[in-house]
Amino acid sequence: MKLYNTRTRGVEEFAPLRAGEVRIYVCGLTPSAQAHLGHARSFLFFDVLRRYLAHRGYRVTYVQNVTDIDDRSINAARETGEDYHAIVERYYAEFKEAMRKLGVAEYDHEPYATRYIEPIQAMIRELVAGEHAYVARDGIYYRVSTFASYGRLANRNVDELEAGARIEVDEQKEDPLDFALWKFAKPGEPEWPFEPYGAGRPGWHIECSAMARALLDPAGKGFDIHGGGADLIFPHHENEIAQSEPLMARPPMANFWVHGGLLLFDNRKMAKSLGNFEPLCDLLARHDPQAIRWLFLQTGYRKVMNFTEDSISAAALGLARIKAAYRSAAPTTDGELEGSPELDARMEAALDDDLNTAAALAVLYDVVSREAPSRERLAYWLGVLGVAPDESWLEEPAARLAPDFIDRLQRALREARIDAAHEAIEGATPLEAIERVVALRDDARRAKDWPASDKLRDALQRCGIDVKDSKEGSSWSVAASTP
Ligand SMILES: [Zn+2]
Repeated sequence: MKLYNTRTRGVEEFAPLRAGEVRIYVCGLTPSAQAHLGHARSFLFFDVLRRYLAHRGYRVTYVQNVTDIDDRSINAARETGEDYHAIVERYYAEFKEAMRKLGVAEYDHEPYATRYIEPIQAMIRELVAGEHAYVARDGIYYRVSTFASYGRLANRNVDELEAGARIEVDEQKEDPLDFALWKFAKPGEPEWPFEPYGAGRPGWHIECSAMARALLDPAGKGFDIHGGGADLIFPHHENEIAQSEPLMARPPMANFWVHGGLLLFDNRKMAKSLGNFEPLCDLLARHDPQAIRWLFLQTGYRKVMNFTEDSISAAALGLARIKAAYRSAAPTTDGELEGSPELDARMEAALDDDLNTAAALAVLYDVVSREAPSRERLAYWLGVLGVAPDESWLEEPAARLAPDFIDRLQRALREARIDAAHEAIEGATPLEAIERVVALRDDARRAKDWPASDKLRDALQRCGIDVKDSKEGSSWSVAASTP
């Protein structure tokens, strides 16, 4: 399998450091506010990566931390008067529920920074002993000048970085690039004792270095994959490397550094200040979570991706095609997982290529349009992509319609004076009838016959069928409140 490595800036053949085993650390959420879809994108990608590595036969250990002590959660606690633990727990529980809906598998380890204070302090002691860190009036800082390859991950030189850095008025550091490992206690903030230096709390960067070492690499010989969103490359991941590697028996800290691309919303970053903020849990209430996942799978994980309401409708349409194929596929009779050598080979070729999920979806579309893979094999590969079919996939979408659906649709079409449509559904099943009317409406739209298109949509709607349009075509669903 080939994977893009930020550390070497190239696509490389992936091989684990220990035979048969892959160790992954991904920087997790800072639950100081509600999560949005941008937060979720890279977590969804890493979920597919670990599922695929498991398919390839590796035993995967996946760690994703929780930054449960942070300036932002402390500020939120100060503003609302609520305990910061309660704030973190609430937002994190909401995030985990969203991940569950999106089909993200449970992590093997989910370390909370505040439960790793001892390993964090041990690491700071070692850095101070090696003169990589120094004690200032307001905290303990990392001395960047002691780490010769600082800036290598971000591909930036120190002079350039120095020019962009600054010292905040309340910071007592030697150099603008130096960063805090430990912040001495301030009144009203959570604090932990730390002899002989002084009580306080850890900085964000050292938390990840210490938790990764404790859980994946106590021997200091490196682990396989360190991941996160592309916005974490600098300074967070650069700083993790600077803290970890001087203490290691055999650097690098991680063999592969893997980063997911950013997500834009209507071509802008999502932010409360821009007025386009939608919490992840609200978005998941409006859309099928599997369709959201499908949308991410359609785009290469490293590309900047633009999310629009249209793009989610198109993804839902694509997923509906696969669901229909799944419904009509024959279950394997002997109950065994019957391999489908062609499907397997093509899916592996796509995913071996730097986890090209867009190519993998193209393979699925192609396979279901030409042949009938067994339902189990299709389900297997959908599972690798994290879109596992459930009971609802076998339900005919038209099963929830009233028994007299055809009569009612015919009446509605007759009243709308659309004879062609009325004739087209003569003798059809409900499913065929809907497909035919939607196709006629697509024809009308292409011919820019908007009155006919509107009438056909109204007729369907009156019979409990919602039609959604996007650039790629129209999709339909049975309305939630079917008459
Ligand atoms: Zn981190």
